[in-house]
Amino acid sequence: MINNSEKIYIVRCGETALKGQNKSFFERMLVQRIKKLLTGFEGVTIERVDGLIFVRTPLDSDEKEVLKSIGRVFGVESISPASEIVFEGMDAESAMAEIGSAAASFAMGLISDRNIKTFKIDARRADKMFPIESPQIARRMGAAVLKGCKVLKVDVHQPDATIFVNVRRGRAYIYETKVTGFGGLPLGTNGKGLVLLSGGIDSPVAAFMMSHRGMYIDAVHFHSFPYTSERAYEKVKELASILACYCGRIRIHSINLLPIQEQIVQNCPEEETTILVRRFMMRIAERVAAEEESMMLITGESLGQVASQTAESLVVTDSVVSMPVMRPLIAMDKTEIIDIAKRIGTYDISIQPYEDCCTVFLPKHPVTKPRLERIQASESRLDVQALVAAAVASQEIDVIYGKEF
Ligand code: ATP
Ligand code: MG
Repeated sequence: MINNSEKIYIVRCGETALKGQNKSFFERMLVQRIKKLLTGFEGVTIERVDGLIFVRTPLDSDEKEVLKSIGRVFGVESISPASEIVFEGMDAESAMAEIGSAAASFAMGLISDRNIKTFKIDARRADKMFPIESPQIARRMGAAVLKGCKVLKVDVHQPDATIFVNVRRGRAYIYETKVTGFGGLPLGTNGKGLVLLSGGIDSPVAAFMMSHRGMYIDAVHFHSFPYTSERAYEKVKELASILACYCGRIRIHSINLLPIQEQIVQNCPEEETTILVRRFMMRIAERVAAEEESMMLITGESLGQVASQTAESLVVTDSVVSMPVMRPLIAMDKTEIIDIAKRIGTYDISIQPYEDCCTVFLPKHPVTKPRLERIQASESRLDVQALVAAAVASQEIDVIYGKEF
């Protein structure tokens, strides 16, 4: 009997399924996260069965929206909307007849939706107690579809549609499209990190990538108000609200860097401005991270992208903090980063032209190979501790939740 009373989605967990003894923990975290992202939908049930997750929603729920929401859960490898056939208590032959007629009407649906001409069946028998083996199930389902849909032909090499038939205990599932998720690990399985979030293309992608491995994210943003505008900060909040759809709630600590930038400009060599500012950013971020119980800092730096991201600059930047600094984009080209930004939905916001604090006092010829002793000598003209403490004390916090997009 086809289950016509609800919509069913089969969710595959990818790497989560490989986690040995922790498997159950990872799957529970995944289910929790799917539940959370589906809170806007009424009457949803979620169950774990043998490494798969079955999500059931009422018939009138919007399939596209459900797929979009589940697709944003880290740890989800793929999702298939499926037809369910219930054959508990039936003998195998009657079950095969039920599944066959369901497969035929499933194929009918594909003809009317996409005008398919050819198909193949991919059958799996997950329940080894079911007495008919997979190749035979495939053959008989193929015959049932051909009989029910006279216009269709079988093409095992390049079919217009592959119809999957998955026979489990007392139930079978028929589905076609697999919507691919982002994979990765469920949120909350890998601590918390603090991302240095600018309004650019790179840092949102860096945050996404770390969160994709299970990390909660908080953010610190530096501005130079009134040199940078209120609108520039709105843009950062907008980026965070997109990220929060994947990473969960994000707290942004916004900090005015202008007092520090002014001290640097007045007291230090012009060409060192950027690297000196970056060292302050890292010091302040480390303090904020410690207060927030974040374990690591995250930046969107990529080797050699600009003067402050040469190997020498990165070493000099890193030497002011003892917390690990994650740079997930370090070996990526800008085009690869842009591809991800587009896929996750941050790109269009990132390219809006608003000023960043780094561009406020941009030196004409920044040092590209800074020497640590020289930089330290320049910093000795500043009261570093006091400046950092004042900056940390002046922070304002905004809590950002996921926004529909
Ligand atoms: P992005 O696209 O992320 O702005 P970028 O190529 O412009 O990167 P930089 O401006 O040199 O590079 O910044 C490098 C990294 O430093 C950023 O990815 C981000 O992590 C951090 N950063 C830069 N500006 C800020 C800021 N205003 N607030 C917080 N972090 C910042
Ligand atoms: Mg930037």
